[in-house]
Amino acid sequence: MDIFDMREFDDHELVVFGHNAATGLHAIIALHSTTLGPAAGGCRIWPYASTTDAVADVLRLSRGMSYKNAMAGLALGGGKAVIVGESRQVKTPELLQSFGRVVDSLGGRYITAEDVGTTTADMEQVARATRYVSGLGAAPGRAGGDPGPKTALGVFLGIKAAVQFRLGRSDLEGVTVAVQGLGGVGYHLCRLLAAEGAKLSVADVRPQVVGRAVEEFRARTVTVDEVLALDVDVLAPCALGAILNAHSISRLRARIIAGAANNQLAQGQDGAALQAAGILYAPDYVINAGGIISVSHEYQGGATEAQVIADIHAIPTRLTEIFERARRENRPTSAVADEMARERLGRPPLHPEKLVA
Ligand code: NAD
Repeated sequence: MDIFDMREFDDHELVVFGHNAATGLHAIIALHSTTLGPAAGGCRIWPYASTTDAVADVLRLSRGMSYKNAMAGLALGGGKAVIVGESRQVKTPELLQSFGRVVDSLGGRYITAEDVGTTTADMEQVARATRYVSGLGAAPGRAGGDPGPKTALGVFLGIKAAVQFRLGRSDLEGVTVAVQGLGGVGYHLCRLLAAEGAKLSVADVRPQVVGRAVEEFRARTVTVDEVLALDVDVLAPCALGAILNAHSISRLRARIIAGAANNQLAQGQDGAALQAAGILYAPDYVINAGGIISVSHEYQGGATEAQVIADIHAIPTRLTEIFERARRENRPTSAVADEMARERLGRPPLHPEKLVA
């Protein structure tokens, strides 16, 4: 594996491998850019099939954090960490603390938080070894705590902006929305959508969370295979990455795609395929920034929850700017967002072959 030649590499500033035989830690931390501030991004625990897969994922996610933080106007760069392993098997207080020591050794150039496979309680363990961590518990009314509901709020506001732009409607009464994934973000998103009269179709691999959505939000259940191809106004992917690819895009019937999942486009050119199909795509790292806005305020200290919520309300304005520019220039929304993010990072546009979500 030649990391420097990987198409995900994109001039990363630093890639660090952390190992601790006693705790079983195999971690990789990637810092894409610290131009705008210390690199911030969560720590994912995942059973990667190979080190190459883990490196590719951390690089892709790290660059995504640079774009996300830049577009959210935060004084933060982009970074990410992965710990290799099945979360339930490898996660111990000792492992998390040894990860915290690797984070600490970077002296504040990287700030970690939760991601897939890690929780607020896990970050409390990491915080025993380093102060460069956020996404910890928060006092009532203060910034911080679980970022999931904050991400859901940003996605909800972003869906409203997309519905306004594409369908010319300022309300969600009777608007049909398919939500894929009812976890920390998807569940709260359904709650907000249902309260405004949207008609929900939902899918998740966990039957118990589907049952809860049916009961609480009168949602219709569909299978995980059906959800992507539903004839709906909005498809909100809130589960996995890379779900928008050559195969799935040909089956899509939604007018809008606007959801929380990171790295929804499998390849850079999938954004053009969505545009060609007449589907309005809300770039994932713009619409799903609510969580990092909360994490950022928590880390800097002193902010109230009301300030976090006010900042999240800027997401729809940012999205509308991207939608309008894409229409004016007849380009995919994803390409416009990437270009805007890279301008803010002081980086030239990527060569098309290096475009990978
Ligand atoms: P989560 O793990 O709490 O929930 C994901 C849900 O998706 C789970 O309920 C899971 O059962 C379900 N799922 C898994 N595979 C599925 C499939 N094939 N079909 C349907 N459902 C499936 O994660 P989350 O915190 O809700 O985050 C959701 C997505 O949003 C992830 O891609 C995450 O990276 C992204 N994201 C989350 C945040 C945040 O603040 N939590 C912020 C930005 C982006």
